[in-house]
Amino acid sequence: MIVRRRWTAAATTAILISAALSHPGPATAAPTAPAPISLTTTETALVRVQLRDQAQLDRLVASGADLANRPKARDGRILADLVLTGAQLADLTAQGATAVQIVQRAGDGSRHFAESVRAAQARTAAGLRAPSATAGERTTAAAVDTLQVQQAYWWTTAGQTFLQAQVATTATDDPDVEITVSWRTADGATGTFPLYRFEDSGEYQYHYNLPQPVPNRPVQLTATSSLGGVSRVVTPALWPNATPPPLPAGYQKDFIDAYLTPVDIQARIKRLARQYRDLVDVIDLPNKTQGYRRTAAAYLGDPAVAAVVVESVRFGDQNMNGVQVRTVDPGRRNRPLTVGYRDRVLTVSLATDTAGKTVSTTDEVAAAINARQPNRFRATVEDGSAGLPMPVAGPARLDDGLQGTEVPAKPSTVQALRLGVHRDGSRVGVLAYSQEHAREWATPLVTLEFAERMLANYRTDPATRELLEQVDIFVIPTVNPDGANYSFNDYNFQRKNLVNHCTGSARDPKNRNSWGVDLNRNYTVGSYFDGYVGASANCLSGNYAGTAELSEAESSNVIALARAHSNIKFAMNVHSYGGYFMWPPGAYRADGRITLPRPSIDESTLFLNSARRIVGAIAQERGTVTWPSQTGPVADVLYSAAGNSADQLYYELGIFAWDFEVGNDRWNPTTGEWEGVGFQPPFDEAHGESQEYAGGLVELVRVARDYAAAQG
Ligand SMILES: [Zn+2]
Repeated sequence: MIVRRRWTAAATTAILISAALSHPGPATAAPTAPAPISLTTTETALVRVQLRDQAQLDRLVASGADLANRPKARDGRILADLVLTGAQLADLTAQGATAVQIVQRAGDGSRHFAESVRAAQARTAAGLRAPSATAGERTTAAAVDTLQVQQAYWWTTAGQTFLQAQVATTATDDPDVEITVSWRTADGATGTFPLYRFEDSGEYQYHYNLPQPVPNRPVQLTATSSLGGVSRVVTPALWPNATPPPLPAGYQKDFIDAYLTPVDIQARIKRLARQYRDLVDVIDLPNKTQGYRRTAAAYLGDPAVAAVVVESVRFGDQNMNGVQVRTVDPGRRNRPLTVGYRDRVLTVSLATDTAGKTVSTTDEVAAAINARQPNRFRATVEDGSAGLPMPVAGPARLDDGLQGTEVPAKPSTVQALRLGVHRDGSRVGVLAYSQEHAREWATPLVTLEFAERMLANYRTDPATRELLEQVDIFVIPTVNPDGANYSFNDYNFQRKNLVNHCTGSARDPKNRNSWGVDLNRNYTVGSYFDGYVGASANCLSGNYAGTAELSEAESSNVIALARAHSNIKFAMNVHSYGGYFMWPPGAYRADGRITLPRPSIDESTLFLNSARRIVGAIAQERGTVTWPSQTGPVADVLYSAAGNSADQLYYELGIFAWDFEVGNDRWNPTTGEWEGVGFQPPFDEAHGESQEYAGGLVELVRVARDYAAAQG
């Protein structure tokens, strides 16, 4: 409710916003006029918005807004990717925000899915494989601050060289300090760009900027501040400066030719187990999910006037879809309020006064249904209808509202693949798991491509064979199949699972797309319940933590698998989108921004060095380089995520636990902008992500092998 109320100051007509795209792009490329950004009032989309100020962001976060990734600083302003309706966007715009990119519209998901399936069918018919995706000088008085260059890295993607720097000033409390970076390239070109202050949880972190295009390899970098501080001169380092072994001739890859639903994923798991019998076990995880199911509900009355929400206690598919509910006028004087149920019709006969006029209120009707039919129905007064006279209404038909027709309506068994020659716990274990968040459709493509590469190359590639000899690999392609089914069939921006813990008027079916638990906030370490930041107790929030730690079958399954196999020492939690590579700590407390304990120096070194190897392997596919500013501890590079799975795996089970956010921003040389790719991009992009990040997971297996070898 909180989320919706905040947004109710709505425009009633379609809005048209011209995106003002001024930016620190390359001096040579003139920005082209962007297409106007328009969204109808009720249309939902994923939008990159330039916020007015930090306070606006803080208000959004406090209201439980659906932030898709960490806001970025640009032009000293904050860019955030938000799932919102046209009305909400109009509201934000009225408060000074500017829409800069529609990353994805609601209808894009199903269109991209259908296109991917059609294209796959056409390729199959033609006997073809899936295509590979293409790949200042200032004069001041005496300095009052000191600058430290914390990072200065460069790399080249698709022929364009980029430079990124992170600089800290000692004037941490002065929000107006301006820091400018000056660079010089190997061939003598020079230039400057501004850095922007990055604050988190009210505390200064450092100044940085998005990667800046430069004409050639930078060899020198200095930072100066408006307070007169000057850094030492540094030589930017090559990032990530790690290259995986080249793929041998005949290496097989590219096993993904369309988006995959949970039903498709189950079939793929079955096929791999049959095809590679001696290398694969399929593990049924212990906790069945609720299934793609909802209770059946209807409005009794008119929500615009007066209504009661009547809901079945059982799920709609349990013979409750189609049950009818009505109120009737008994047509006689002095009658009491009664409730009867027969022949699948719930009939509420309203009370009458001495004149024969009906006198029951909405509250009385809801209470009577709950008192007389507690095993079949639950009734709540619609928000705004409290105490109003109950009209004669109905019959209304209860329905679960689910649109998917090819999804089995029963609890799901979540499955893991176990790959390796020695699947007996004697080898170091690696766990890769994906789609905790339902809408992240590219993520199971990554883990399944990875699994099939390991299996398909076993007989022909000695290096792959050695990895499968030395490492015990566990893969959960979809942690959240119920939410994924809802994302494919009903609401493509669904993030959470399908379990509705809401009570009272929050159960109103108008909130159907906001129910569910954020599985990656439902774990036990650094959780909301422990007082950490980045999760919510509001059942309608995108970050709802659930009723208790591990209240959900899906999160319990991940932990059960890790606990049952103590040889697992490495884990990768695959999410989308944004292009991040992260590790613990993933959460901090609000008071004083106290993070979970930092890893030791040795462990931090392992996290970072392994990350560089894996970032290098990802880049091998199509040149995608995960930015240094987005490689590091979750709490430092993304946001605090209370109760996330990697933190439980690391702090409780001693597993080196990383997170991918696949789907890196793409550089648009025409506009000089980094552009977000979204959760369900056109399939070519999702395919590219599956190929590059599968390569990253293969490198993770090499990291595990090397770690085990070093342990002796
Ligand atoms: Zn996610």
